[in-house]
Amino acid sequence: MLRDSFGRVATDLRVSLTDRCNLRCSYCMPPEGLEWLPKPGLLTADEIVRLVTLAVERLGVTEVRYTGGEPLLRRELVDIVARTSSLRPAPQVSLTTNGIGLVRLAAPLAEAGLSRVNVSLDTLDRETFEKLAHRDRLPDVLDGLAAADAAGLRPVKVNSVLMRGINDHEATALLRHCLERGYELRFIEQMPLDAQHGWSRENMITAEEILAALREDFDLTEADPGERGSAPAELFLVDGGPARVGVIGSVTRPFCGSCDRVRLTADGQVRNCLFATDESDLRSAMRAGASDEELAERWLAAVRIKKAGHGIDDPSFLQPSRPMSAIGG
Ligand code: SAM
Repeated sequence: MLRDSFGRVATDLRVSLTDRCNLRCSYCMPPEGLEWLPKPGLLTADEIVRLVTLAVERLGVTEVRYTGGEPLLRRELVDIVARTSSLRPAPQVSLTTNGIGLVRLAAPLAEAGLSRVNVSLDTLDRETFEKLAHRDRLPDVLDGLAAADAAGLRPVKVNSVLMRGINDHEATALLRHCLERGYELRFIEQMPLDAQHGWSRENMITAEEILAALREDFDLTEADPGERGSAPAELFLVDGGPARVGVIGSVTRPFCGSCDRVRLTADGQVRNCLFATDESDLRSAMRAGASDEELAERWLAAVRIKKAGHGIDDPSFLQPSRPMSAIGG
């Protein structure tokens, strides 16, 4: 098992399929985009499946979440999902996506064994979307969400990041939109992971602010805290339930003590934390002919040294050199 020195066990693997994205959300990357990882450096579909198989069959991983960059841009996605969901013991396979392309892909992905999706949606206003993501794609995202729901990829979860002065007045509207359609909304505090290093604590909309805004229009009661387990979201029943809304206070209410995640980047590096400054290079080892035992040993060693917390509050905190899009959110 992927156990660290504090006794936490990583069972939830986030795999980035590409660092490329068709949006330019300003909390993630600059409008002109980034220098993408060189193609030969990216894991091939077979390499991804080999490592995921190792994680599921030998290292106790029970959930595999494909992400990026934008995972729908990876041409072999449906094949990768199909091969992952046919592993035994069968992992839960999910996807974090901006939704652009789900109209075409939701049904084939569901058929390939995908269990559900998290779709990012920060605003319902087309102009605000364009200002925030530097692309006029809001209708595609909304259509993608509807397609995921129609394909049975439920519960459809929606991730929203609120930014001060841009979309922070939309908390209520976003929740209403999701409630009306049966989507589960989660607000995520903005984290210092943007390529431009533009994050500031003062500009971050905190979990407390989000909850205060929602409470002006909804009655929120804490859902059974025993249910939370290692899930990052604090869940609240909306107007008595059963509908729920989540708030992920990654910065102000960190949940590192119950973290069960480990990450594999698109270029084959294991990261034991979003904020890790070290990585373990499985790609080079694999391409140099490492056996499954050797790869498993490297992976175990990488997780063993996971730090107690992300350390954003430490005076010595250093933002990781890779931005979110290159790590896999
Ligand atoms: N492209 C996909 C998407 O849009 O969901 C997957 C990758 S994206 C990096 C994954 C999630 O990370 C999205 O919900 C996005 O809003 C979130 N994200 C990106 N940068 C962030 C930041 N600095 N702080 C908090 N969340 C962030």
